[in-house]
Amino acid sequence: MNYPNWLLQRAHLSSSRMALSYEEQEWSFSEMNSTAQKYAGKLAAFGVERDSRVAILSKSHPEFIFIMYACLHIGCEMVMLNERLSKVELAYQLEDSKSRFVLVDDKLVEKIESPHVITFTSIRSAKPVEFEIQEEWEQGRTISIMYTSGTTGNPKGVRQTAENHFSSSISSALNIGISAEDVWLCVMPLFHISGFSILMRSLVYGMGVRLHDKFDAQQCAKELQKGTVTHMSVVGVTLERILNVLDEHKASVSPNFKTMLAGGGPIPVAYIQRAETYGISVLQTYGMTETSSQTTTLQPADAARKIGSSGKPLFLYQVKIEGAQKPGEAGEIHIRGPQVTPGYIGRHSGLLVQEDGWLHTGDIGYLDDEGFLFVVDRRSDLIVSGGENIYPAEIEKVLLNHPAVREAGVCGKPSEQWGEVPAAYVVLNEEIELDVLLAFCREQLASYKLPKSIKTVESLPRNASNKLLRRELKAWN
Ligand code: AMP
Ligand code: MG
Ligand code: MG
Repeated sequence: MNYPNWLLQRAHLSSSRMALSYEEQEWSFSEMNSTAQKYAGKLAAFGVERDSRVAILSKSHPEFIFIMYACLHIGCEMVMLNERLSKVELAYQLEDSKSRFVLVDDKLVEKIESPHVITFTSIRSAKPVEFEIQEEWEQGRTISIMYTSGTTGNPKGVRQTAENHFSSSISSALNIGISAEDVWLCVMPLFHISGFSILMRSLVYGMGVRLHDKFDAQQCAKELQKGTVTHMSVVGVTLERILNVLDEHKASVSPNFKTMLAGGGPIPVAYIQRAETYGISVLQTYGMTETSSQTTTLQPADAARKIGSSGKPLFLYQVKIEGAQKPGEAGEIHIRGPQVTPGYIGRHSGLLVQEDGWLHTGDIGYLDDEGFLFVVDRRSDLIVSGGENIYPAEIEKVLLNHPAVREAGVCGKPSEQWGEVPAAYVVLNEEIELDVLLAFCREQLASYKLPKSIKTVESLPRNASNKLLRRELKAWN
């Protein structure tokens, strides 16, 4: 089955409805469509065509969205680059994805060394040429590719198809409902599935997006008070900061506001209860890049009763716990449904994502006697720091690249400000100043991934087969 091009369809069905709002400006779906077509013509002038793999690196602003929508019109596969990554990390993703073009926000041009760079300014000033607009999209067509790390330390490029995004949008709507006046506040990065999925919902529902260029708790609180938005996505840290601002101003939240979707990691129950006092229902969700956003989400009706749970699977999805014989028994979370990626690209393209038809997440959880999911542990000792995921293996790999380091182990340690931050333990071959080691890391890692402490030790905790026991490392913090 093919879908009609979502943006064309939206411009046709709800042309005058607000699609995007940013600062004082607004664009209707029909304006978004014509702007995207103009940008598509400009991209075509550089040779961008159907099936081109196009990497995009940008800060959050409307032109980023125009360019993404232009890529949708042309039929490109978009590799979404994270602006917080280091040059080395970005270079890896460009090489692994074999991106033919790299579209770069002028503010970030320093981050990319590639002969394939096209800056946003040069796109803007290009003279449009004719291009073939994709009237229909095949279900299996790759819309976006997002890199996510794992146990190996080498990030994997996850394919997200039209079907993945469509089923994700529809399933979410069946859970929280939609109405014509809905506006979703987007302060999450657009290159993450958390932000990108808001755009997909916008197209599928005909819903407005209110975009902020960055997260600012004061600005978010203002939107909630004024009632200019109805939904927003948060992570633990951003939710807490918004609540602090509301407390400070003794503010009330407009009844227009409906729901917060809270993901990325577990949200402390206390935050959810504090939000309740403002009449904000916070729906904890469990999802990942490989499932194009949510797989389970609490329903508004259960939010108060099942605090701490990530809810039940959305309508089209299935979740089971490997090996569990009865409710309450924990095991690996397995997932099935049309939201699950068909696979990875580049050097991980041979990796099977769905064994026996199920995605083996590596996360540990249990289902209670009513079928509510509780996530109890995360895969591969993932560190969630201010909503960003950090995989210890990635940092360890960098440390091990330094000749002075013989062994390296990284784990999360609690942080007031970020929830968790990475801490490193190293066994050295030779003396080295830890500042020098940190500087070495800084060249290769995004700053949020830099270990907040490095300690030298005699040896690292390992099991019989010599596998690093990061859990034991944690006890050293
Ligand atoms: P990513 O693909 O980078 O977005 O990371 C997804 C991972 O974040 C999941 O595999 C989990 O380990 C973790 N995660 C997401 N949602 C939750 C949740 N509700 N509770 C605990 N961990 C979560
Ligand atoms: Mg991941
Ligand atoms: Mg995340």
